Amino acid sequence: MEALRQPKMPVQEREEAVKCQLCERTAATNLCVYHQMAMERVKEAYPLWVSAYGSIGWKEYLDNVKRNVQTGRWAKETAEFLEKIE
Ligand SMILES: [Zn+2]
Repeated sequence: MEALRQPKMPVQEREEAVKCQLCERTAATNLCVYHQMAMERVKEAYPLWVSAYGSIGWKEYLDNVKRNVQTGRWAKETAEFLEKIE
């Protein structure tokens, strides 16, 4: 009896690698890890802004994020993206 061989399955190339919607990087979802991280931060910071400024709308917040000189490039692009999809 021939020993059971591992069937040689052709390794499926992940041809349909998704591209980040904001840059050219390959992404697991619609955003690459960098933009994903930036989005997390933008979303996390929102409640802080609300408590600091009283009531601030989501769009108004995103607008502030974009115009803030201290906002990094990733976060700015993410804020623009969030504005578009909201
Ligand atoms: Zn990206």
